[in-house]
Amino acid sequence: MAKLIDGKAVSARIKEEVRQETAAFMEKYGIQPSLAVVIVGNDPASRVYVNNKKKACELMGFKSIEYALPEDTTQEELIALVKKMNVDPAINGILVQLPVPKHINDMAIIKSINPKKDVDAFHPENVGRIMVGEYKFLPCTPAGAIELLDSTGVDVAGKNCVVIGRSNIVGKPMAMLLLHRNGTVTICHSRTKDLTAITREADILVAAVGKPNFVTGDMVKEGAVVIDVGINRLENGKLCGDVNFAEVEPKASFITPVPGGVGPMTIAMLMRNTLTAAKIQNGIKD
Ligand code: NDP
Repeated sequence: MAKLIDGKAVSARIKEEVRQETAAFMEKYGIQPSLAVVIVGNDPASRVYVNNKKKACELMGFKSIEYALPEDTTQEELIALVKKMNVDPAINGILVQLPVPKHINDMAIIKSINPKKDVDAFHPENVGRIMVGEYKFLPCTPAGAIELLDSTGVDVAGKNCVVIGRSNIVGKPMAMLLLHRNGTVTICHSRTKDLTAITREADILVAAVGKPNFVTGDMVKEGAVVIDVGINRLENGKLCGDVNFAEVEPKASFITPVPGGVGPMTIAMLMRNTLTAAKIQNGIKD
């Protein structure tokens, strides 16, 4: 039986740390960190995410600014807003909630964000910084997954780490972070041959596929640490991960549940990045 990695508890701890640090920061420097979130259109899932981010900001003591733009906002209008925020000293973090409507190129938007305010860490400059190991911000979901891994006390160094998924926001940065910790990392994707043979060798297995119950018991080595990044909504309305929990849990040594695993970590890491952004922009190192 695996030990459950409690994402709710770890995220609560991190948010409490950020809240306390923020209080001390405001007291010492008289600056209130601020996060601006832009939502374009009426996607209900995006609305839930944005509301949760606003709520978390309030708990941290941050100023939260929301720009809710109509679905037919043009790319030029969105970039014009981002450029205004880029130079506004009252805004420390800028987050454009993805996905944006199809007529807008998300990469063009990401590239228009000032890298020092890019609290999602999606800007190519911040991605490059992660590659060379000189980063200020980490993308929130992989950073949260690494925190969960750390909470187990398992040392990544020398371990076979397998990441299923190679997206820019989860799979690739996750693999890089594991590599920074001296894991021996394999990245798998939809063109990978004999996936099961590879995943069965994993001491640490990260699933970021976006397919419910994709990782089955036969794909997992006895004693593996399994991190499930997937968040899938089933027809019955329930959330489920990319890992078949019932099959994998008896084999794993540690496993993240869905919900209550990586999910809650993402916002906690966003809060940490926003405080970091406020410090960087005010030339404060501690
Ligand atoms: P993407 O759809 O961008 O990427 C999915 C990846 O899975 C791709 O690299 C794809 O390969 C790979 N893949 C698809 N099918 C297979 C297959 N049969 N075998 C092996 N690999 C396969 O998803 P994201 O990275 O954005 O998200 C992944 C999951 O994480 C989703 O469930 C998402 O909801 C969740 N998520 C959770 C977050 C959180 O806060 N916890 C935040 C962000 C995402 P290829 O590149 O070849 O197409």
